[in-house]
Amino acid sequence: MSKVVIVTGGGRGIGAATCVLLAKQNYKVCVNYHSNQQQAHSVVDKIVEQGGEAFAYQADVSDENQVQAMFVATRQRYGGVTHLVNNAGILFTQSELRNIDVKRFKQVLDTNVIGCFVCCKTFINQFDHAIEHGAIVNVSSAASRLGAPFEYVDYAASKGAMDSMTTGLSLELAGQNIRVNGVRPGCIYTDMHADGGEPGRVDRLGPNLPLKRGGTPEEVANAIAWLLSEEASYVTGSFIDLAGGR
Ligand code: NAP
Repeated sequence: MSKVVIVTGGGRGIGAATCVLLAKQNYKVCVNYHSNQQQAHSVVDKIVEQGGEAFAYQADVSDENQVQAMFVATRQRYGGVTHLVNNAGILFTQSELRNIDVKRFKQVLDTNVIGCFVCCKTFINQFDHAIEHGAIVNVSSAASRLGAPFEYVDYAASKGAMDSMTTGLSLELAGQNIRVNGVRPGCIYTDMHADGGEPGRVDRLGPNLPLKRGGTPEEVANAIAWLLSEEASYVTGSFIDLAGGR
């Protein structure tokens, strides 16, 4: 049976590293992106150069129609989707909660929580439970445990919601051949920190962590790939913290 995966936000950072690794492990990969078409196509080019199969697909994960169209396009190309990585996520400029407005909080929830929900729902409804073994990995954050005070409590709250969804959905699907797990990265070297207004955040915080450094997207991708794999066949409703010991 061929393994077909959709990685949301696969054009850069943790998502891009995950796409490249999964393609090496013989998954056929849908590299989802939202606005950065060029980066998504670079990931596809890299995979194809390495002998893998991938295509890029533009969709806003918070839009159910666009997500459904992405699953249809992937099915037409590769067959039914067997694995899903809910990696797309956003945050905004570091700020105390009292200065965060409702519009921003809703935008964060729309992408990080509704996006995860819509992708999970669409995945389940197209999945052939009779013959396939599938898996979902939700990319949460250490912020769900730590709260991200003075930075982005809205983002932390969205990741807390993802964790609850991971737990509940893992139990709903436990008898239906789909495992659902989460990863909670800490400070990882990606462009996301520039979106928060501090491109050098990982260099600032890394040395203070127990492991004395920030993490790489590839280190997170390794955990995602393991949770998706049959090596993790008895693991569901679990979380791997990749936060340097914090
Ligand atoms: P990143 O480099 O900022 O990448 C975020 C990705 O999400 C981009 O590919 C972006 O696509 C995509 N995206 C944003 N909004 C989207 C939407 N509405 N629909 C579809 N895709 C959308 O971030 P990253 O650091 O790799 O983070 C990946 C995941 O890890 C996120 O969920 C993040 O919360 C989590 N995480 C990261 C860290 C860290 O330190 N980096 C720590 C903890 C958790 P476009 O570029 O095409 O817009």
